[in-house]
Amino acid sequence: MKTKIEPFKIKSIEHIPITTPEQREKYLDQAFLNPFYLRSEAITIDMLTDSGTTAMSSNQWSAIMDGDESYAGSRSYYKFEDEVRNITGFKHIIPTHQGRAAERILFSIMGGKGKVFPNNTHFDTTRGNIEYALSEAIDLPTKIGKNPEIIADFKGNMDIEALEELINRVGARNIPVCYITVTNNSGGGQPVSMQNIRETSELVKKYGIPLFLDCCRFAENAYFIKMRESGYENKSILEISREMFSYADGCTMSAKKDGLSNTGGFLCMNNDKLAEAAKTLLIVTEGFITYGGLARRDLEALAVGFREVMDENYLKYRIHQIAFFGELLTNAGVPYLMPTGGHAVYLDAKRFAPHIKPKEFPGQSISCEIYKVGGVRSVEIGSVMFGKNDEKGEHIAPAMELVRFAVPRRVYTKSHIEYTAEAIIEVYEKREQLKGMKITWQPDFLRHFTSKFEYV
Ligand SMILES: *Cc1c(COP(=O)(O)O)cnc(C)c1O
Repeated sequence: MKTKIEPFKIKSIEHIPITTPEQREKYLDQAFLNPFYLRSEAITIDMLTDSGTTAMSSNQWSAIMDGDESYAGSRSYYKFEDEVRNITGFKHIIPTHQGRAAERILFSIMGGKGKVFPNNTHFDTTRGNIEYALSEAIDLPTKIGKNPEIIADFKGNMDIEALEELINRVGARNIPVCYITVTNNSGGGQPVSMQNIRETSELVKKYGIPLFLDCCRFAENAYFIKMRESGYENKSILEISREMFSYADGCTMSAKKDGLSNTGGFLCMNNDKLAEAAKTLLIVTEGFITYGGLARRDLEALAVGFREVMDENYLKYRIHQIAFFGELLTNAGVPYLMPTGGHAVYLDAKRFAPHIKPKEFPGQSISCEIYKVGGVRSVEIGSVMFGKNDEKGEHIAPAMELVRFAVPRRVYTKSHIEYTAEAIIEVYEKREQLKGMKITWQPDFLRHFTSKFEYV
């Protein structure tokens, strides 16, 4: 059979708002031209994020009914712990209410002035937590990872040579941990190869630096390894995932992604001393070690989710849905980050709107216009999210200007994808009319969430 189908059917539906162009114009104005301020009632298709937006299965919902809400020693925790250990093999498994809580705990312990944290590409909250701990977050993506036009199998890889240079420059004792993000979210959802994880691990081991995985999308990454890396064709997703984790000393995870759940996360490690410090901080700020700020029923949903996410029929559908989205854009000549990654399509704003300079936020402008045309919400990943100013107030742009359309798991059908592509194509066809923007207000950290804009 040629048609790839959703490997599920729909038991319960949620109505989506249908709005008029006039309404959307007004909503966007009221949102200060920042889609984060839009109310969900104003949105027809929401591709702001794939985080916590998953449709849970009937098996997960029944597990939720079975949750054991004991404060300490809940049997739901032990189910969760068994599943996470089965995949990761780590000794200490600490639940948190989401990924950034795990990051905050880790970097509060390991961070501090003068400390440097390398990563293939830091996610925004990871960078935020590192900088909040007065440390430095350094991105070291492979060179081809910074070029949206090159098609290659593992554009999420770490630049291992650059990593060794960094270690020699700042000194291993100033690098408390090296990170690899799988898949590389801010770098386009691109996968990291097993070889790259193994070689990074070998390098940092030589210098006594532990390796942690930011493993939010471990199953999507494992599927790409199975499809693209020789020697893994016949291995199961579980086997591949286990090998990925075997090269690491710990991980942080937002289970709102490949936990197929609406909330949750965890922090794992083998080191007893680090675990002790992390558990203390967890109890002070999140909750007891057998729930970490989550309702115990959510741990049940996660325990089931970790199994469902490794189902190859699901992963095949998931990765194909994103590839199909990309094909529709390719056919219309819309520039996007090639090839499509695991969870999102990223428009290449530099080629989409070359007349808008990075300091006038081309991605933000494109994102707003696509909302106006179709009621579709996306997010800028470029100068708004990662731009900085130098001492003279001059704008320093990141390597890429992207607009991300993250596809929630098991939520949208093929026609929703087609509709979204149509809205993008319509804006692309009148791209000369897009206008630059300026920020009228911004906070000190993670400015993309709450900044306010005006057209210039
Ligand atoms: C979502 C995400 C995080 C943060 O997790 P939250 O659950 O949103 O706090 C960290 N790293 C990556 C790569 C992510 O995608």
